[in-house]
Amino acid sequence: MNLQNLVRKNIRRLVPYSSARKEFAGTAEIFLDANENSFGSPLSINYNRYPDPLQMEIKERIAKINNLKSSEIFIGNGSDEAIDLLFRIFCRPAKDNTLICPPTYGMYEVSAEINDVQVKRANLTKNFRLDFQAIENAVNENTKLLFVCSPNNPTGNSFQREEILNLAKNFGGIVVVDEAYIHFSSEKSLLDEINNFPNLVVLQTFSKAWGLAGLRVGLAFANEEMIALFNKVKPPYNVSQIAQEAILAALENRETVEKTVAAIISEREKLVKKLKLFSFVQMVYPTDANFVLVKMSAANSIYKFLLDEKIVVRNRNSVELCKDCLRITVGTPEENKILLEALEKL
Ligand SMILES: *Cc1c(COP(=O)(O)O)cnc(C)c1O
Repeated sequence: MNLQNLVRKNIRRLVPYSSARKEFAGTAEIFLDANENSFGSPLSINYNRYPDPLQMEIKERIAKINNLKSSEIFIGNGSDEAIDLLFRIFCRPAKDNTLICPPTYGMYEVSAEINDVQVKRANLTKNFRLDFQAIENAVNENTKLLFVCSPNNPTGNSFQREEILNLAKNFGGIVVVDEAYIHFSSEKSLLDEINNFPNLVVLQTFSKAWGLAGLRVGLAFANEEMIALFNKVKPPYNVSQIAQEAILAALENRETVEKTVAAIISEREKLVKKLKLFSFVQMVYPTDANFVLVKMSAANSIYKFLLDEKIVVRNRNSVELCKDCLRITVGTPEENKILLEALEKL
């Protein structure tokens, strides 16, 4: 596979914006190159300088942790930025299409539509498995991106490694595996496969297991050639100084993440057991994530009832294959108790 053949012509010939901080690589003490305010700012902590455009310190840390190279990592303003960049790098507006496997994360479709890219759908089977026949039928020569979310949002289940790798092997476009919830799953990440498949992109995020949704930092892992394309197209300073500093600090505290993930999984198992006891609960789908999809009789009215109790869950009733389903995020023990007590009233 030749990756460059999949890249839009305008991106292939693009001369990327070159920022002051990128052009200067030596050592200097006085910076008069970027039109910043040398006097400082109203804050006591100074954010008057532009941040590192390539976030090298963070990448080196993450590379070391995952046994990768820095050049195999892209850091974005949330993984949503990586999703948007994939469309802009590979999909010609009004010509190319993307394939998604609903029910799945809503941003793939929204991002496609913003970029004027047609969305083809190969729905999951009734048991939320990938439908390989439907995928094969939907793909055509203009299908550039195939999104597989594993564990999948909103269904919560993971797909098997071999299944996803088979797609990467047989599909002529880019396979994007969204691992936003991988830390909660017993399945292994596909990170260690990025150099075996030139068309494989693995997305992860600091928004879920890491508990840093407010920082807006997401990751894409792929081979060097792919990551170079991300870097070519991304806005120069896409991750703020505050976010970079906070992520570096968080990376020094990885045991905390392991602990909260274990606590969330333990709460999830308790919550699942208790939810199954309610007479109006028809199905609690198996989950590998920090949420659970629950099929209920009259989900719409239960959703409204919970809102009256000041509890908001995600109503997925109108999503394909999710009729009468609510998606419930695992909360703290206290929050889960309040939820269960509210449901007792029904
Ligand atoms: C929450 C979520 C994300 C995270 O997006 P960010 O922009 O990194 O916050 C990505 N993919 C899926 C499937 C999600 O549910």
